[in-house]
Amino acid sequence: MLQIMMPAPLTFTMNEVPVPEVGDTQALIKIERLGICGSDMQIYHGKHKFMSYPIVLGHEGSGTLTKVGKAVQGFAVGDRVTIQPQNFCGRCYPCQQGLYNVCEHLSVMGVHETGMSSDYFVTEASKLLKLPDELSFDQGALIEPIAVATAVIRKVGGVNGAKVAVLGAGPIGNLVAQVANASGAKDVLITDINPKRLTIAEQCQIPHCVNSQEKDLATAIVDFFGANGADVIIDCAGIRQTISSAVQCARRGSRIAVVANFKTPVEIELVLLQRKEVTLYGIMMYLRQDFERAIQLVAQGKLHTQELVTNYFPVRHIQEAYQYVDDHFEDVMKVMLTFS
Ligand SMILES: [Zn+2]
Ligand SMILES: [Zn+2]
Repeated sequence: MLQIMMPAPLTFTMNEVPVPEVGDTQALIKIERLGICGSDMQIYHGKHKFMSYPIVLGHEGSGTLTKVGKAVQGFAVGDRVTIQPQNFCGRCYPCQQGLYNVCEHLSVMGVHETGMSSDYFVTEASKLLKLPDELSFDQGALIEPIAVATAVIRKVGGVNGAKVAVLGAGPIGNLVAQVANASGAKDVLITDINPKRLTIAEQCQIPHCVNSQEKDLATAIVDFFGANGADVIIDCAGIRQTISSAVQCARRGSRIAVVANFKTPVEIELVLLQRKEVTLYGIMMYLRQDFERAIQLVAQGKLHTQELVTNYFPVRHIQEAYQYVDDHFEDVMKVMLTFS
């Protein structure tokens, strides 16, 4: 089978390797779709701090089971699945608290260990989630980023009846805003400086899509949410200006969530958080329940997903796909690799 390896930044090699053996507790997946994500681009450029080469990329996959280990229950050949790409130790203190998303030995497929850029991928059955019939393989590959969004909404304590401002309208910001909307938020606004991303946000029926170069966050919040401001501000942009404006604009007694990966240390006015008694949430990945919720929301038709998929490339053209994302960083949302 084909397995695509990245031996060093900016380089892919196409390797012909045997189809992996399937252990008793494992299953073999014929991969159908694989999304390219911001963290993949960091690895592509050698800028990801917590990984080493060579690596097989890919953590946003969907496919069909072609083999199931003897001890596996609840899955059968032919099932359509997506994969929760975290491996954790189960023994460290965070794991024992159920917080395996911050396991001290967390190993993410496609980042720290072999990912899914291959015709077939073997993994523990415990990492699989079945896709209901109504979900496409595209939607299956989007479940991982949607689970980031469902995790955010869960971790900030829910948004029922809340006014939610999301900063950054890339794939994660878009999905966080949509999940907030689908989870009972009273009102949602999203900001970006990129008109294309804002247009896609509009197509996804996010209520207020604001170009922050035309209207600053403070004004947008007052215009759309009224004088009492936002209950929750969620930073999915990861730039100094957005988090400091979030801290400036946060209402007394409100919540801020940091979802984006900040690449350099950022100064914030801590005293403002203290004076206004703002709760700040750091958010890292997801739990299985967030995948289940993501699948449920898509199956219920509560999220716009196809609007997010801007491009397709056959997996053999992976180099071209990554180059395309690089050259059109402002234009692409989710790029999907397809398998024959
Ligand atoms: Zn991702
Ligand atoms: Zn652990």
